[in-house]
Amino acid sequence: MSIYGVEDYLARAKKYIEAGDENALRHACLELRFSLESIVYQRLRQIGDKLPRSVYKTWQPQKALKLLLSFEPRADQDVTLDICFNTVDGEPSGDWNRIGDYKMFSVKWLSKSYSKLGNFLHLTSLAEDETPPQINASDLQAIFDEIERVSTASILLTMNSITIVDCAVCKSDMYVSASQVEEDAVVDCYKDSCGAKHNIVKLDEDRFVANRIGYKSVPCKKCGKDFSIESTKHGELKDCWSCGQTHVVVWGYASWPIPEKSI
Ligand SMILES: [Zn+2]
Ligand SMILES: [Zn+2]
Repeated sequence: MSIYGVEDYLARAKKYIEAGDENALRHACLELRFSLESIVYQRLRQIGDKLPRSVYKTWQPQKALKLLLSFEPRADQDVTLDICFNTVDGEPSGDWNRIGDYKMFSVKWLSKSYSKLGNFLHLTSLAEDETPPQINASDLQAIFDEIERVSTASILLTMNSITIVDCAVCKSDMYVSASQVEEDAVVDCYKDSCGAKHNIVKLDEDRFVANRIGYKSVPCKKCGKDFSIESTKHGELKDCWSCGQTHVVVWGYASWPIPEKSI
C-alpha cells in the first residue's frame, strides 16, 4: 500500500481507460477525481488537530492545495531527501543516504485536470450543446500517469507548526504556519464571505501578531458589524459576512468646498 493509498482507484481507472468506450471513460474520470481528492486531503490531514477537517472538507482540492501552499510555499514541488550522518568541521562528510522522495503535482496542473474531469462528468449544459466536451482516452491517460507518479512518493514531509489566530474582522479561526511568520506573510481569512487580509508581523522568537494595518473595514449598514473591503473593486457588490446585507462599494471624490448649487 502506498502512502496515499490510491491504488484501488487507479486500478479501476486503468481498466476503464483500457475499455475505452464513452461510458467506461466517464467512470474512469470519477476514479481519477477520487484519487486527486484523496491525495490532497491526506496531505492536509497531516497537519493534525490544529486544522480541523471541517475547515476544508467541503472545499474543492484546488482551494485545499492553495491553503497547503500558503502554509508551505514548496508543498507542490518534488523533493528528494538525503541525509549524511557524518560531519567534519561542521560540513557533511562521507556517504549520503536516501531517505525518500516526496512528490506532489502543481496547483496549476491540479486545477486544469480537476476541472477537465469535472466537465466530462457533468451532462452538457445548453450553452455547451454546440461543442460538448469530447472525452478522450489519451487525455485521461495523461492525468492517470501524473497521479500514478505522485502516488509512488515514499515520504510525506511533516508540516511545520500551525498557530490559530482570530480574524480581526469576523473572529473566525485563521491558521498561520511557522513559515508564514518567518516570511511576514499576508494571511487571508478563510471564510469566503469575509476574506479580510492580515499582515503577519513577527515580534520575537515566540510571538507574532496578525494585524489589519493598511487594510480597510467599514460598518455594515444593517447590523453595524465591520466587513473588509480591500479586495472589493469599484462598483462591486459585497455582502456582510454576518447578516448578509448587500452593499455596493464605490470610490469617489469632489472639489472642495462643494459648489452651493450641487448641495
Ligand atoms: Zn474573517
Ligand atoms: Zn451586517
